Amino acid sequence: MEPFIPQLVFIEPQALEYQLGQELKQKFTDMGLEIRETTSHNQIRGIPGDNEFQQYRNAKSTLVVGVRRTLKFDTSKPSAEYAIPLATGCMGHCHYCYLQTTLGSKPYIRTYVNLDEIFDQAQKYMDERKPEITRFEAACTSDIVGLDHLTHSLKKTIEFIGQTEHGRLRFVTKYHHVDHLLDAKHNGKTRFRFSVNSRYVIKNFEPGTSSFDERLEGARKVAAAGYPLGFIVAPIYMHEGWQEGYHELFERLSNALQGIPLNNLTFELIQHRFTKPAKRVIEKRYPKTKLEMDEEKRKYKWGRYGIGKYVYPTEEAQNLEQTLRQYIGSFFPEAEIEYFT
Ligand code: SF4
Repeated sequence: MEPFIPQLVFIEPQALEYQLGQELKQKFTDMGLEIRETTSHNQIRGIPGDNEFQQYRNAKSTLVVGVRRTLKFDTSKPSAEYAIPLATGCMGHCHYCYLQTTLGSKPYIRTYVNLDEIFDQAQKYMDERKPEITRFEAACTSDIVGLDHLTHSLKKTIEFIGQTEHGRLRFVTKYHHVDHLLDAKHNGKTRFRFSVNSRYVIKNFEPGTSSFDERLEGARKVAAAGYPLGFIVAPIYMHEGWQEGYHELFERLSNALQGIPLNNLTFELIQHRFTKPAKRVIEKRYPKTKLEMDEEKRKYKWGRYGIGKYVYPTEEAQNLEQTLRQYIGSFFPEAEIEYFT
């Protein structure tokens, strides 16, 4: 998997008032990319494509350089107190991705250049909560690692959190382009997680992302660089032969991590879920997907804003949870399983 290069770049004029905005403009000009101006990163017009399908594909390789105006951080994740907004959107094409619905008609990738303002806001949240630790999640609305070789804003965030007393940073990725992050002064305060799955799920549902082996190569590098390491197994999906598929996953993980000190390894387990609006969008954008989304085979779970999710029925979910806990227990007895949801 080659590192992401946008086909088209939009820049907000205000972004050029920031040093990072200037640097990115120069960089993309030197790379020979087409650059256009946009008045707002929330209203991008003129993404090429004759129909919605093509426009969606092109949007996923369009990068918008903008200023983040809403500085209030979102708080809705199980793994952190706040989502730190560095970017929105992703170049990947995972069929099940929840960004398909949460980003609606704006699937293009946005990166924000007003990092100092974002860090000031993060500092306020930390000050409010201290002496409690405050955890920030940087991958709620994008796969930030997949973009960071261009912007280095994640690297700056890792170093910002590294010098705080009460801050912790975490993010998850399906990309292995981590080399520029290896010398970041993280001070052990950033947990670097990789998203992993069975061969079946990666092969059928995760186009446009790094392969399993590449992700493991990334994991080995960041662990060697002293980052606390974690894996998110998501979505856990009941395909034919899923028991063998997930057993093999942990076996391959454990083989690949031989000899790497893994004190403090964590796992997070998230079963597959979908909403009705997501199902409609997925069927339109990935019409040939094998992703099973049959409401009859699922349990309905009430959700926020009246949009409920379809998860596995209780017994199946328990079976998934117990099976994966057992595999992790046997291959990684020291690891902590943070949650199953
Ligand atoms: S890599 Fe993550 S954010 Fe990107 S499309 Fe896949 S699931 Fe979505």
